[in-house]
Amino acid sequence: MSIADNIISLKKETDTIKVKLLAVSKTKPVEDLQEAYDAGQRLFGENNVQEMVEKYEQLPKDIEWHLIGHLQSNKVKYIAPFVSMIQSVDSIKLLQEIDKHALKNKRVIDCLLQIYIADEDTKFGLGFDEAIELLRSEEFTALTNIRIRGLMGIATNTDNEKQIKEEYYELQTFFDGIKLSFFRKEDSFDTLSMGMSSDYKIAIEQGSNMVRLGSTIFGSRVIKHWKNN
Ligand SMILES: *Cc1c(COP(=O)(O)O)cnc(C)c1O
Repeated sequence: MSIADNIISLKKETDTIKVKLLAVSKTKPVEDLQEAYDAGQRLFGENNVQEMVEKYEQLPKDIEWHLIGHLQSNKVKYIAPFVSMIQSVDSIKLLQEIDKHALKNKRVIDCLLQIYIADEDTKFGLGFDEAIELLRSEEFTALTNIRIRGLMGIATNTDNEKQIKEEYYELQTFFDGIKLSFFRKEDSFDTLSMGMSSDYKIAIEQGSNMVRLGSTIFGSRVIKHWKNN
């Protein structure tokens, strides 16, 4: 199946159940993104700032760019003028930096808090307690140019479906709790980003309303750096 065919069938599958489809195009050349765009795709996810900026410059301006990888504070300024959503917020310091650059660009930038749910040794993501602490902090309340739209999580990379299901279930439950405690009156807190190519069906069953699909759309990523393709 071509990229266009993949987009058409995945959009059909997700649109009918009101799940957003984010096409994760990291490491893929702009021609591949253009093909997905021509098939109707508008939401693209990248995990590298420089790669996102270069693709943004070359592709149509109605694309919504989502940053899904770890973001260093000193790189926020490069994407602040155009990024649609930063899904990988994992500290108050990063959020403050996003707020500062959003203000400079006279924008409000949508963000998701990345929550750590996997049974893996990775540095990224907030624990449940840390997320609550962040939302309760005075530093957070002082921010004016960011909007928390919801949560993002990555499940453990495993064949154990029961474990994946439990991790997504926990995140969905946490999402409901956070919504009630902190965003009860804000309809804009509406995004639960969970599910990748290998586990998106489980994620949807557990309440995801945004799936982030890379290899299912574009094929496997063999080479890590897109310029060396
Ligand atoms: C790469 C990536 C994806 C997509 O992975 P696939 O397995 O290719 O679908 C989704 N989410 C994040 C955070 C990623 O880094």
